[in-house]
Amino acid sequence: MAQKIQKPRGTMDIFPDEALIWQTIENKAREVAKRFGFGEIRTPTFEELSLFKRGVGEVTDVVQKEMYTFTDREDREFALRPEGTASVVRAIIENGKASDAMPLKYFYIINCFRYEKPQAGRSREFFQFGTEMFGTKDPASDASVIALASTLINELGIKGVKLHINSIGCPECRPKYRQALVDYFKSHEEKLCDTCKERLKTNPLRVLDCKSPICSEIAKDAPNTIDYLCDECNDHFTQLKTYLDAQGIEYSVDTRIVRGLDYYTKTVFEFICEGIGAQSTVCGGGRYDGLMEQLGGPSLPGIGFGMGITRIILAMKESGVDIPEAPKPVLYIAPMGNNAKAIAIKYVSELRNKGVYAECDICARSLKAQMKYADKIGAHYTLILGDSELESGKAQLKDMTSSTQEEIEINNIVDIILKK
Ligand code: ATP
Ligand code: MG
Repeated sequence: MAQKIQKPRGTMDIFPDEALIWQTIENKAREVAKRFGFGEIRTPTFEELSLFKRGVGEVTDVVQKEMYTFTDREDREFALRPEGTASVVRAIIENGKASDAMPLKYFYIINCFRYEKPQAGRSREFFQFGTEMFGTKDPASDASVIALASTLINELGIKGVKLHINSIGCPECRPKYRQALVDYFKSHEEKLCDTCKERLKTNPLRVLDCKSPICSEIAKDAPNTIDYLCDECNDHFTQLKTYLDAQGIEYSVDTRIVRGLDYYTKTVFEFICEGIGAQSTVCGGGRYDGLMEQLGGPSLPGIGFGMGITRIILAMKESGVDIPEAPKPVLYIAPMGNNAKAIAIKYVSELRNKGVYAECDICARSLKAQMKYADKIGAHYTLILGDSELESGKAQLKDMTSSTQEEIEINNIVDIILKK
């Protein structure tokens, strides 16, 4: 027997019932993005490998351990996108969008790929709703992007999500903080995990983000970024808090939040939903003022976030949000014989063209089996078309919910259904 082929580890198959909740999220995300003036951007699923090396950062986990890379037939190196921001920056530069009205405001709903250990809320192909704003340094823009995420989370009916914010400074003040961190962790070096020993040399901020219990215990007493901010970063953070307050958005300052990607400056934030298990960050983002230049573009400051759609689904289920039901046909026509079937097909087609969901038999089922099927798919009305109905031009329209029926002129069925 031929061996069964399975999907790649860490990917998912989504069938129509489950797809309904995805559509709910995607539709709401598009609608909220529109209200905030964000337009959709679509970029390729794969990019030159060097884009992510330079954009995300050589010493990040994403680039070092998590990327899906491949060479094409001409030995060019590519990677499946592990995130969305680098591609958007490349697209802005390549298409000269820096001359558009500022700020640029884009959103995307994309699949991303990271070679990680699959678990609840963590997969190898995952999906993000993301936003990017470029061309403003004003902390009001940070507050606006955070408000977009917050509005979406609230309007999806998710409860118990907490916003954590922090500032990780800029190239001006970060070196001083970095040194203070290195000094602190050096005094605990023997106890750190092997990865963090390495991080201490390459990216000490990442030690703060380590999930191992010993490292996180040590990290608790580490110096805080916000104590090392320069005046500009400090003012920015203070203003951000004022603008969040002005919108009634609750937050807590969480000095442990440093984010996993290299490009962040000043503001970083996460929306955390404790109820959904270990992978509790449903949305993460921050400011990246140097990224555009780092990728060879103009000096345009940026801010944005990525929201993990599978984690949002977990949070919605945890919050008891009603999951949408599959659509049910308004009418099921059950024909007997080929003449009746042609008439059934004609009326179903007319109804569908007018925007109504209608069905008729396309499986050559017996009448009994058809009625069973109509019941299973939840048809509101049924109409049986047999020889005597065709002869008289009249048939019984049965309301399946009330089990009542009325005699109608078959010719009028479309109008009758449209008026229901
Ligand atoms: P984490 O610390 O959970 O690995 P991250 O810092 O790597 O997250 P980002 O790169 O900021 O995550 O991505 C933004 C959001 O995308 C995350 O907050 C999360 O909701 C989602 N996300 C990231 N990686 C995955 C994954 N492997 N599977 C599912 N969702 C993910
Ligand atoms: Mg990660």
